[in-house]
Amino acid sequence: MRGITVPTVQAGHAIGVDLGGTKILAGVVARDGSIVRRHERPTPQDSQEHVLGELEAAVDALFDESVSAVGFGVPSPIDQQRGVVVRAVNVPLEDAPLRDRMHERFGVPIGLDNDANAAAIGEWRAGAGRGEDDLVMVTLGTGVGGGVISGGRPFRGRDGAGVELGHVVIVHDGRPCQGACNGRGHLEAYVSGTAASAAARETFGPSADAHRLVRLANEGDEQARELLEEVGRYLGSGIGSFVNVFGPQLVVLGGGFGVAAYEYLLGPAEGVTRREALEPMRSTVQLAKAELGTAAGLIGAAFVGFEAADA
Ligand SMILES: [Zn+2]
Repeated sequence: MRGITVPTVQAGHAIGVDLGGTKILAGVVARDGSIVRRHERPTPQDSQEHVLGELEAAVDALFDESVSAVGFGVPSPIDQQRGVVVRAVNVPLEDAPLRDRMHERFGVPIGLDNDANAAAIGEWRAGAGRGEDDLVMVTLGTGVGGGVISGGRPFRGRDGAGVELGHVVIVHDGRPCQGACNGRGHLEAYVSGTAASAAARETFGPSADAHRLVRLANEGDEQARELLEEVGRYLGSGIGSFVNVFGPQLVVLGGGFGVAAYEYLLGPAEGVTRREALEPMRSTVQLAKAELGTAAGLIGAAFVGFEAADA
């Protein structure tokens, strides 16, 4: 041992902040993706000013001289040119100049991204997608989201909003989509945890939901397994199309429902994916389960911070 290691600017940590509907998850993250320290506080619901103040407080609780950048994952499209949160879902933030405000407060480079992009970046840098330059992450939770890494860079589109993988059509004129979406036959309406809960209620009664469906499948219930396998086949329709569009080496499946039901979804999803995808992707693409759980967003947000620092 060479004595005491003093943290320096060269240690180059970034703080990642994952803004969720109920919690702000923050952490100091090293360049290898490991979390050095964590901080968590509730997300206020009353006003934009209160949310911005709590985001500042979360960063402030972790900030030290080793921190060279801060990144935020926010459930909203991001105007990357202006560094503005356009309009968040489930959090009172609209047209919020987050980048300038945080830069003024902390004096380091600030990166912003959509929360689903941040989770995909987390899995790419430190989880199931480590070492892959081309990957698609699909998250199955209350809704369906995702992110794309293409040629070793996050794909954000012209407006920086990223991709809405849950809102591609897999059945023309199919089921109405969820929430504020007016579309029909979108992937989300067939493979989200919400859709699985609806299928569970139809078969097992009004108190059933996606959690119970997975539990029943784990206990060997054939009907529950068949319902999940059907979800998996729909998922394969979506993934097969993503593979044809983006040509990834790897598709990572995440989100609370996606991870919980993974072993039942994987086989049918992979079968349909390989039917729909064209060569050479059909033979080469791999599917994998997300590894970072709820930490993916804050780790990815930290890498969005590193990206801003390195720009
Ligand atoms: Zn939709």
